[in-house]
Amino acid sequence: MSLNSEDRYSRQVLFRAIGAQGQERLRFARVALVGCGATGSSVAQLLARAGVGTLRIIDRDYVEASNLQRQALFDENDAAESLPKAIAAAKKIAAFNSEIVVEPQVADLTPGNIEQLLGGAQLILDGTDNFETRYLINDFAVKNSVPWIYAAAVGSYAVTLNIVPGETACLACLFPDSPSGTFETCETAGILNSAASLIASIEAVEALKFLVGATEKVRRTLLAFDLWSNEHSEIAAAHRRPDCRACGQRDFIRLAGEGRPHITLCGRNSVQIHERHRPVDFTEITERLRAHGTVRHNDFVLKFLREPYELTLFPDGRAIIKGTTDTAVARSLYARFVGS
Ligand SMILES: [Zn+2]
Repeated sequence: MSLNSEDRYSRQVLFRAIGAQGQERLRFARVALVGCGATGSSVAQLLARAGVGTLRIIDRDYVEASNLQRQALFDENDAAESLPKAIAAAKKIAAFNSEIVVEPQVADLTPGNIEQLLGGAQLILDGTDNFETRYLINDFAVKNSVPWIYAAAVGSYAVTLNIVPGETACLACLFPDSPSGTFETCETAGILNSAASLIASIEAVEALKFLVGATEKVRRTLLAFDLWSNEHSEIAAAHRRPDCRACGQRDFIRLAGEGRPHITLCGRNSVQIHERHRPVDFTEITERLRAHGTVRHNDFVLKFLREPYELTLFPDGRAIIKGTTDTAVARSLYARFVGS
């Protein structure tokens, strides 16, 4: 028995600011979400249930047990199978809303693929855990005049900003430089699931305003909460900074690939290697690695365990190496066991 769309969205259509017309706009909306961790999976769930017609979910990582405390779209089976988060998210969403299109992309967003991954989106949502990717999104969005929403959560703190290119401040207006090495991450400060879900709710409702055309209602401040101390702040962000590198001088250094370090993932002792962009044959590699450690694979990932390291390989040749933060060690393991 198929479900009736009218019933599905009836409570949302009753909300006057959306109505039948807004709902129809959502059906034709095309949104890209970068990162599907705690904030990303909550925002994906909210927008998918709300009926956003096409949702492209880009994530480079796979599900692990430590994600289940806060990442609302994943379960124990996903962690046991090490499913890529984008794939697991698409499966979960299909079970509660099969009327929308979800386009999972297991990939790390880089200057080389950003055009292909974000092109065509009318709105870009931040679900990432790092400033490198956010500055990259900001350059792309400002250059192409696509609105985007910055959102971040760590510890009990959460923060968000709507960026309307050509009008409001952009990320680089407010934060010209990336917070340096002392900046807290989920790895050092932990994270409360409620901080991520609060900021995801705010990000999702601002997204709905953009998508139904209620742009005058879009918030024009940097909004931050600390849920544990019950503090919140709002900083005006309605105006661009004329001397801003990105939206003022239109100098898109991040799109050109400048300042891109080797990436160490949040929450783990691990390094990502992503220089190689050619397909790998899991069956062939499994055979070859069997003599050197424990190896298993499914359609989406290959896991190779050789104490104290664990190498996770994706079909495009990208790898996450756990057990080190030394890029030279990671690179040599990759060269030895996958190929250079
Ligand atoms: Zn700016």
